[in-house]
Amino acid sequence: MRYLPIFMKLTGRPALVVGGGSVAARKVRLLRKAGAEITIVAPKFCKELEQLTHEDKIIFSRCEFRDADISDVSLIIAATDNRAVNQKVYDLAQARHIPVNVVDSPDQCSFIMPSIIDRSPVQIAVSTGGSSPVLARLLRAKLESFVPAAYGRLAALVDEYRQRVKERFTDPDQRRFFWEAVLQGRVAELLFADRGDEARGALEAAIEDTSDSFDSTGEVYLVGAGPGDPDLMTFRALRLMQQADVVVYDRLVSPPILDMVRRDAEMIYAGKERNRHTLTQESINQLLVRLAKEGKRVLRLKGGDPFIFGRGGEEIETLAEDGIPFQVVPGITAAAGCASYAGIPLTHRDYAQSCIFVTGHLKDGTVDLDWEKLARPAQTIVFYMGLHTIDELGRQLVAHGMSKVTPVALVQQGTTQHQRVFIETLGSLPGLVEREDIKPPTIIIVGEVVNLSGKLKWFGDDGR
Ligand code: SAH
Repeated sequence: MRYLPIFMKLTGRPALVVGGGSVAARKVRLLRKAGAEITIVAPKFCKELEQLTHEDKIIFSRCEFRDADISDVSLIIAATDNRAVNQKVYDLAQARHIPVNVVDSPDQCSFIMPSIIDRSPVQIAVSTGGSSPVLARLLRAKLESFVPAAYGRLAALVDEYRQRVKERFTDPDQRRFFWEAVLQGRVAELLFADRGDEARGALEAAIEDTSDSFDSTGEVYLVGAGPGDPDLMTFRALRLMQQADVVVYDRLVSPPILDMVRRDAEMIYAGKERNRHTLTQESINQLLVRLAKEGKRVLRLKGGDPFIFGRGGEEIETLAEDGIPFQVVPGITAAAGCASYAGIPLTHRDYAQSCIFVTGHLKDGTVDLDWEKLARPAQTIVFYMGLHTIDELGRQLVAHGMSKVTPVALVQQGTTQHQRVFIETLGSLPGLVEREDIKPPTIIIVGEVVNLSGKLKWFGDDGR
């Protein structure tokens, strides 16, 4: 271990910063956050530092550095562009055993500063021991995406109840189980959903609960997994996938996404192929209720966005009626995902001022749409579930006044490695699906914006 990681208490402690430029300003910002009493020595100060002159916790010493500036301080940072001055600060600090950091000069540091993920009071510090600050920053970015923004609130809540929990559970193992259940269950989710009072209520109930299982109410997470590319999932979706006990998923959820679910979670396939629903909608609704009532954290994973042609609304209506807690996590809907990956902006100042999402499939298999409204100029139409009725869709649009040469894009398995894009016209649609053996899931985009695909395409695919 090249360096020992420690967290230093600087509240009310004196710290010295030598240098008045933007690098010094960055360090001053951090020291202020840590509550230090800062003295800055420099003949000149940058704008950012000048704005702090009214602060009573910062002393500005407007002169060149002198040896006497090294007094009894807790920590010293040198951020000048003068090597001799930096060296001097370092030597003097070392002689007095004061921790010193010369910015960007590892050889002149008795301590180094990590990349910080700040979820105060939770702090995660990343260091590569000075080997590669870029790598540390990349790691930091990964961790930033992984640790919910509201994590600090969770730590503050634990702090508030720590003593009470200690008194209630005298056995350390039991205490650990308790906190593990609380920090990965309903209490945490309530806090993340900005419902602090309810989180406190649930935590208190769990403390008072005399049964063996803490936090025994289950919860349903209705989560949109996006159109296929796992990179397009939200941070929240990923976090809930890693904490769920059981996952109920649809056919549309792609295998690489399913691979990201917690390894020991139970997986239930709910099907949802056209006309071949493995489970009926009613039995899916009931399944979710039953699993949650068993105290499980249930992830209902859906392709795209759960509230866009996803029947998400129906599923949580049943939950709401049964008083089951739930949360809804949006996903990138197929229209947005496929359009981006096919280089088709759904709106464009020159070609389309509106965009309309419709389903090409109705319950009894017929298409009954407001064609007048769809066939308007300067509008993009996106058909979900329209593959089986595509000939009819094209015919009706033409019959209602659209030109036969209006461009149409079919995007099959959009955003995945199997994406195929076909650029056609309303007139060339008949027979296309059979000719090209196009399979679901496929989305159909109609409108002038489709022409931009030739120019704006950036994602590789197997279409033509
Ligand atoms: N809730 C989903 C839509 C479910 S309806 C969402 O927001 O995206 C199912 C239809 O979505 C499919 O018939 C198809 O038209 C479309 N679809 C979903 N994923 C797709 C994908 N990766 N590529 C192309 N179309 C897709």
